[in-house]
Amino acid sequence: MGAKILVSACLMGHAVRYDGQAKPVVHPALDRWRAAGRLVTICPEMSAGMPVPRLPAEIEPGRSAADILSGKGHVRESNGGDVTGEFLQAARNALALAIETGCAYALLIDGSPSCGSGYVYDGSFSGRRQRGEGVTAALLKANGIQVFSDRQIEELVAAAGR
Ligand code: SF4
Repeated sequence: MGAKILVSACLMGHAVRYDGQAKPVVHPALDRWRAAGRLVTICPEMSAGMPVPRLPAEIEPGRSAADILSGKGHVRESNGGDVTGEFLQAARNALALAIETGCAYALLIDGSPSCGSGYVYDGSFSGRRQRGEGVTAALLKANGIQVFSDRQIEELVAAAGR
């Protein structure tokens, strides 16, 4: 069996997003990996005790996930609430699970302040995207786990095997 793949729970159809919705992705490789026992599912934010639904959160303007991981800057809810601690815990939980279960790869929903790997929102809560990654994705990458977004399943198939 190939190495395991950590996967966003909302991508697997779990209704765990801030708005109470899922963001299911359908792909034959996901079915094969699931049948082979290669998928390890987590919602990092829920693992850190965040409720469903919850307020939307974004990394504050001018800061990156790397800044958050090094103690500079905050992750804020749309009402200004500071959820930096929860987002750091979420990332640590995901990394711990990935290590414990032998995940070499992660397949994460893009755009999330936790799971994003190609883009995130700019911190103004106005729907503007910018290149960047979420806190969990950044911590996984920094620890040698190859992170793919939901738009990169073919690339993940090439890397992880069918
Ligand atoms: S933290 Fe990740 S798994 Fe959880 S709802 Fe957000 S994108 Fe999905």
